[in-house]
Amino acid sequence: MPIILDGKKLAKKIREELKKEVDEFTSKGLRNPTLAVILVGNDPASEVYVKNKRKACDEVGIKSLYIHLVEDTPEEELLRIINKLNNDEDVDAILVQLPLPKHINTQKVISSISPEKDVDGFHPENVGKLATGMKDVIVPCTPLGIWILLKEYNIDTFKKDVVVVGASNIVGKPMSLLFLRNEEAPVSVCHRNTKDLKHYTQNADILIVAVGKPNLITSDMVKNGVVVVDVGINRLEDGRLVGDVDFENVKEKAFAITPVPGGVGPMTVASLLVNTVSIYRQKFGYPKHPLTEV
Ligand code: NAD
Repeated sequence: MPIILDGKKLAKKIREELKKEVDEFTSKGLRNPTLAVILVGNDPASEVYVKNKRKACDEVGIKSLYIHLVEDTPEEELLRIINKLNNDEDVDAILVQLPLPKHINTQKVISSISPEKDVDGFHPENVGKLATGMKDVIVPCTPLGIWILLKEYNIDTFKKDVVVVGASNIVGKPMSLLFLRNEEAPVSVCHRNTKDLKHYTQNADILIVAVGKPNLITSDMVKNGVVVVDVGINRLEDGRLVGDVDFENVKEKAFAITPVPGGVGPMTVASLLVNTVSIYRQKFGYPKHPLTEV
């Protein structure tokens, strides 16, 4: 049986530790950490994600300031709100839930967030810091959550052949940069224009899949002893939630594997809390949170 990389359990432990930490800060007279969450429109999936993130904030004592804007909010209005939050001393971190409606330029909005408050780590300054190995970077929540999960289970990543499938700005690219930035391990990044996906995946010691296609990775595509991280979230017609990996068959060959649900998803939310508390700590003169060390 493979090791099940239990993100749900680890995320709970992290929330408990963060709660203690926040309580210590507030008992010293400091205000609570504060995260502003902006949602534009009524995309049902985004509404669920925002609800979960705010619930997790509540649990650990992070104040979440919810700004829910109508679908046709003009871009200038959104930029004006972000500017106000950037200048608000009582707001530590800002999250703009993606995707944004089509009439809004996502890159422009992300770039307008103050890099120090960019809790998702999507601002070009943080992306640059991640790529160049700078220490004061904010790492995007999903890759950071995966990193924390692998370390918690003592998965050896040094010099391993890492394959990342999916090259989005929010998961695949920053994930690959985490391995590259300190030359931890060689990493291959595959995407929709990869000619022969199996050629890459079957050589992977560590396989991280973030595509959004059920059963993209089947057991003939992996080698024995592989560590599999399944980022995908797919809702099947029968209502089941599955990842991108054929879990039942791939697990027979894996050394370790994340389940869906209960793997990467809860770790993403936990990392959001860690990043928020880390920004808050630095604002009050404390070192960044140890879990953000990459
Ligand atoms: P995206 O659509 O932005 O990117 C998908 C990537 O997959 C692209 O790079 C694309 O080129 C690549 N791709 C598409 N078809 C492919 C194929 N046949 N072979 C190889 N690569 C292919 O998606 P995203 O935002 O990175 O999310 C990916 C998945 O991860 C989705 O299911 C999403 O719901 C999920 N997700 C989960 C979490 C979490 O916390 N668990 C967080 C973010 C995203």
